[in-house]
Amino acid sequence: MVTKLRSVLAFVLAVVIAFSAHVSDAVAAKKRAPQTYSADQIQLIQNAATELQAMRDRMPELAKLIEDENWVFTRNFIHGPLGEIRSKTSTIARTLLDKKDQKEALNLSKEIAGHLVSIDQAAGDKNYKFALRNYSETLKDWNTFEDFIPKP
Ligand code: ZN
Repeated sequence: MVTKLRSVLAFVLAVVIAFSAHVSDAVAAKKRAPQTYSADQIQLIQNAATELQAMRDRMPELAKLIEDENWVFTRNFIHGPLGEIRSKTSTIARTLLDKKDQKEALNLSKEIAGHLVSIDQAAGDKNYKFALRNYSETLKDWNTFEDFIPKP
């Protein structure tokens, strides 16, 4: 009787272990399934991120132009050195694997470009306050965008 009970318990235990192993396998598979970038995607993101960083490094120059109320050069700067920002950020955003991240990053790409358009308009109107406000909004959205860039 005792022997029989033991073998039943062993059987139940074996089933429980097998089942939970199966479940954790399934969870692990689900977690890792779509999260891989191809070599081409990594290259695309890295190139765009490098160019974006070069623009980011020049942002203090734009701050100085606004500070000096140098409106002509402010506009030149937005159309020149920062002219490709929309295309670089949207390239990165569209390459992200996670659809939700993709959507949020694309939205930030639009936001950043929109704030630069506002600075351009502020420069046209010689509106220092509006330019400054949009400058800080640009940096804020840019910081958030950077969190979405996959680290190599
Ligand atoms: Zn914004």
